[in-house]
Amino acid sequence: MTQTLLFATNNQHKVEEIKKVVPNTYQVISLNEAGINIDIEEPYDTFEENAHKKAHTIFALTYENCFSEDTGLEVDSLDGAPGVKSARYAGIERDFQKNNEKLLLELAKKNNRNARFRTVICLIMYNHVHYFEGICEGTIALEPKGIHGFGYDPIFVPTGSNHTFAEMDITEKNQFSHRKKAFAKMIAFLESLPHGKN
Ligand code: IMP
Repeated sequence: MTQTLLFATNNQHKVEEIKKVVPNTYQVISLNEAGINIDIEEPYDTFEENAHKKAHTIFALTYENCFSEDTGLEVDSLDGAPGVKSARYAGIERDFQKNNEKLLLELAKKNNRNARFRTVICLIMYNHVHYFEGICEGTIALEPKGIHGFGYDPIFVPTGSNHTFAEMDITEKNQFSHRKKAFAKMIAFLESLPHGKN
């Protein structure tokens, strides 16, 4: 039997990435597909709290098993910034290009360009809350490259590749991706539950 999981996000890129790797015993439904039109605030200082806020808002609305994720880019020479503030790094308009430009400017005089994406998934099932983390180490490129993806993808080069995420298609990005790693942990957890409990 197929198990349905509601993915509490409005970000179509995230939905596409997850749908590429979901085993066929699960069906991931986006908010859009579920007909839910809601913009959920991310007011907290941790990925866990923001992810929980999104999942809990949707769970309270639907009582369906659902998950959400919060992701940020942590740059070592900027003491982990932009981190949980990644979406609004250059301002409240959440402009991807302006965020990238600001980051490149901040790093112009730094030698260390090491960074990582961190994703925390919050899963709420039958009122129980579970968290799963995925990390992708890499470096910030000197200039944007590529046309795929979203956010900081044009300037992030994952360890083990010479290409930015934006130069990769979804399948290639998923070989490295923070989001894919967190999601794989969630699926492993679901698979570990006794038959009939999931
Ligand atoms: P969110 O709050 O989890 O939606 O993510 C915050 C910000 O991080 C987004 O607005 C993007 O700029 C960035 N971001 C999240 N995930 C990714 C990714 O996989 N690639 C590039 N940027 C990302």
